Amino acid sequence: AQRRLASSFKASDLSVERNPKPAAKPDPSELVFGKQFSDHMLTVSWSADSGWDAPCIKPFQNLSLHPASSALHYSIELFEGMKAFRGVDNHVRLFRPMLNMERMHRSAVRSSLPTFDKGELLECIKKLVALDQEWVPYSQEASLYIRPTFIGTEPSLGVTRASQALLFVIVGPVGPYFATGSFNPVSLLADPSFVRAWKGGVGSYKMGGNYGPTISVQNEAVQRGCQQVLWLYGPDEQITEVGTMNLFIYWTNDNGEKELMTPPLDGIILPGVTRQSLLDLARTWGEFKVTERTMGMQELLTALDAGQVLEVFGAGTACVVCPVGSLLYNGKTYHIPTMQNGPELAKRFYKELTDIQYGRKASEWAPLV
Ligand code: PMP
Repeated sequence: AQRRLASSFKASDLSVERNPKPAAKPDPSELVFGKQFSDHMLTVSWSADSGWDAPCIKPFQNLSLHPASSALHYSIELFEGMKAFRGVDNHVRLFRPMLNMERMHRSAVRSSLPTFDKGELLECIKKLVALDQEWVPYSQEASLYIRPTFIGTEPSLGVTRASQALLFVIVGPVGPYFATGSFNPVSLLADPSFVRAWKGGVGSYKMGGNYGPTISVQNEAVQRGCQQVLWLYGPDEQITEVGTMNLFIYWTNDNGEKELMTPPLDGIILPGVTRQSLLDLARTWGEFKVTERTMGMQELLTALDAGQVLEVFGAGTACVVCPVGSLLYNGKTYHIPTMQNGPELAKRFYKELTDIQYGRKASEWAPLV
């Protein structure tokens, strides 16, 4: 069984059953995130007895699951979020997809689900996107969202390693995050009574169980007039992540140097592909200090008060970068001058990454499908 856990399916074994009734593509201006799906899906099933089955692409359809399936009872579920982009040259590109495959593999190991060859999974995903390539919007504002998912389908209630599992991938077109095409700053609720992840926990893995419990906190933020949650952690109220984005602070530090700061990957932060990309770009530019370290709420508020904070923004696949305009903390609203400062750096990151994603700038970060 151990050997079967470590084996893999192969893209060369992929079978394709075409959808005889392709759906009409939605109008790119009316896309709602996560509501529209393409004509096909990829599935690969696994069992402890026989290992991985051959992967198949088939018409998009419902799953049939045993009601005791462990995904439904014990959240043995993990996922990824990535995108395919139609470039100015009409070619379809992915963005650093191996980073998603590596993160998914780490999530699978932590979930006691079987592992797979990351390159083989990526090949299968490319085949799916190629088959549904007409679903990649003809727009440099929109993209095709790709949702690889992996669930335990063990048909029994014991809290044990799943003896059956299903990996599947669904894709669907998504519109621009910033509807007007220009940045809209978000307001954040920073309330230390809510905690997203903790040391020794699983916050650094993309497991569904990390997300369900955040919805009521997000609703709480909206009730208090904020748009998203700033997740704090520990006695010094470390700032960790914002909504489902990594957090960046660009400021003049106490030594008078310009510095880009983001919390370190210490187990409670999701290692974002966008986060890694911004760090890589900033370090290549070498124009300012780049630091991965924790910052507590008090330190941030002191720096804000002293006028040292230039830009605060979230970073993630959904929006690339998302400026932060204010914080609600202990009943008081703190303005953040991100927009007043351009936001110069956030805009530069946005342009650099979208130039690569839409093929306006050649880069090995954006392989063709
Ligand atoms: N943090 C969390 C909690 C997330 O869910 C995401 C989205 N995957 C991110 C950060 C950003 O990661 P990425 O840049 O890979 O989208």
